[in-house]
Amino acid sequence: MTSLNQSLFEQSQQLIPGGVNSPVRAFRSVGGTPIFFKKGLGSKLWDVDGKQYIDYINSWGPMILGHAHPQVIKAVQDVAENSLSFGAPTGLELEMAQLINKLVPSMEQVRLVSSGTEATMSAIRVARGFTGRSKILKFEGCYHGHADALLVKAGSGLLTFGEPSSAGVPAEVAAHTLTLEYNNTQALRDLFAQVGDELACVIIEPVVGNMNLIVPHMEFLHALRELCSKHGAVLIFDEVMTGFRVHLGGAQALYNIKPDMTTLGKVIGGGLPVGAFGGRKDIMSCLAPLGAVYQAGTLSGNPVAVTAGLQTLALIQAPDFHLKLAAQTKKLVDGLIAVAKEVGVVFNAQNVGGMFGLYFCEHCPTSFNEIMQSNKEHFNKFFHSMLDSGIYLGPSAFEAGFVSAAHSDEDIAYTIVAAKKAFQLVALG
Ligand SMILES: *Cc1c(COP(=O)(O)O)cnc(C)c1O
Repeated sequence: MTSLNQSLFEQSQQLIPGGVNSPVRAFRSVGGTPIFFKKGLGSKLWDVDGKQYIDYINSWGPMILGHAHPQVIKAVQDVAENSLSFGAPTGLELEMAQLINKLVPSMEQVRLVSSGTEATMSAIRVARGFTGRSKILKFEGCYHGHADALLVKAGSGLLTFGEPSSAGVPAEVAAHTLTLEYNNTQALRDLFAQVGDELACVIIEPVVGNMNLIVPHMEFLHALRELCSKHGAVLIFDEVMTGFRVHLGGAQALYNIKPDMTTLGKVIGGGLPVGAFGGRKDIMSCLAPLGAVYQAGTLSGNPVAVTAGLQTLALIQAPDFHLKLAAQTKKLVDGLIAVAKEVGVVFNAQNVGGMFGLYFCEHCPTSFNEIMQSNKEHFNKFFHSMLDSGIYLGPSAFEAGFVSAAHSDEDIAYTIVAAKKAFQLVALG
């Protein structure tokens, strides 16, 4: 008998490329069939066949309160009765702008959009309009959404132009995007010495969550801040993932570094589509209708989506929310390291706030090259054993994981017991 899950996947593949609406969902990296879900509550998910899982993806970050939090659901239901969209201003958007400005003070002005991709794409356009420059700099392994200019990998030499990392991106577009190794301060200084005055902006994940979890060297972030100021390049912190997750004020509060612009997404919508970009008032004033940089959105600031975000942000301001979230995540990480050691598997793990990284290598990696050297076969074996035990991890060795406020001590303890079994399978080879 085939499961409902299998049947849904087979039918989906007929009509939806790869059967999924975003590629990492397809399990291509780990093999097997993606799970189709029908319900979530707190830390738990149920698939269409009724199997229960503890969720460590949390919709890739947004579900920081766990699934179907009653206060968020109620607020969304209430506001939905007043119409789903106006395409005109609402007081809710003002409330959201005030809250963002309070929690992330470097965002002196802010504009709402509907995804992280829109936020980063628009922030870069504003930075280019503000500086009158075309070149941008990003770092290898950082993901900033799928705008053409950001789907770029490093060329062969340090200062060669970037090459598209996706078909369909013209080489001419990619040519304006330079790419450097993350955490490489010397390479950064060398690049700025040569083209610093031509850079419109530098965009960076201040903690990387899109090549597994990579923690920044403080010296690297400080050098970046100093070089951008010296050369008049706009420093954009892409906090779509880290915003409200690693600290109430994002990575910029955790590390006490002030970017010129910030992009937000994920947690800010509490599970509905919201993104935001903002920063210095002189830069944001370049945006239409005030300035010459065009940017727009039919559903931007949508009342239902903004309400889910407002309610989520209200709840995560509870005293010690992020301390508890970080402590719970650390408990998971420490437990996993301990059982891997017991079993004798080469493994490491770490967390920043409610984000964590699992690595099948000796040390926690600090760059794209290092993470690429982790043991992918070991991860895949571990992933499938965990899935069998009802633990839902990101289906790739190169994704970060997320803990929510709903994850209980029992959830963590169960996960560690399941992990011991999974590590034993890995050790068998
Ligand atoms: C998820 C993510 C994006 C893209 O956001 P979408 O809402 O998926 O378009 C951009 N930047 C970072 C750092 C992200 O983690």
